[in-house]
Amino acid sequence: MATNRTFTMIKPDAVRNGHIGNILQMINAAGFRIIAMKYTNISLAQAKKFYEVHAARPFYGELTEFMSSGPIVAAILEKDNAVADFRTLIGATNPAEAAEGTIRKRYATSLGENAVHGSDSDENAVIEGDFFFSGLERF
Ligand code: ATP
Ligand code: MG
Repeated sequence: MATNRTFTMIKPDAVRNGHIGNILQMINAAGFRIIAMKYTNISLAQAKKFYEVHAARPFYGELTEFMSSGPIVAAILEKDNAVADFRTLIGATNPAEAAEGTIRKRYATSLGENAVHGSDSDENAVIEGDFFFSGLERF
């Protein structure tokens, strides 16, 4: 059903470091079509809601403070096998372990500040896209 869509954010570190354009270019070059996109800054409360699944993890406070620390670019992307192919494009969570040519290898600075988010399942891609976008904002 929704297997051809994923959700991404360009995180505050990559925005601050001037990588929006390069990351969008890599996303386009990998064959993803942009269905929805916005430049926004989420509050701490919104970050806590978005990352609720990680509430019990020791890095939850650090993660949510970071994600609300500056503007991000949120987007819904479309491609065959979108969730898995996008996670291949972004690389491992820890940039030290990310493969050559991946977005995190090129632009992430640390495990906590790792440049991009990518949905981990079709189900979460829908939930995350709905968190940021109304039906009127998808094309
Ligand atoms: P994302 O959900 O952002 O795409 P991911 O799916 O690769 O990343 P998750 O396990 O969902 O990784 O963790 C969410 C985010 O929390 C990571 O991207 C990272 O920024 C942060 N994080 C994960 N583990 C740690 C950790 N041990 N210490 C600090 N931050 C962490
Ligand atoms: Mg995740």
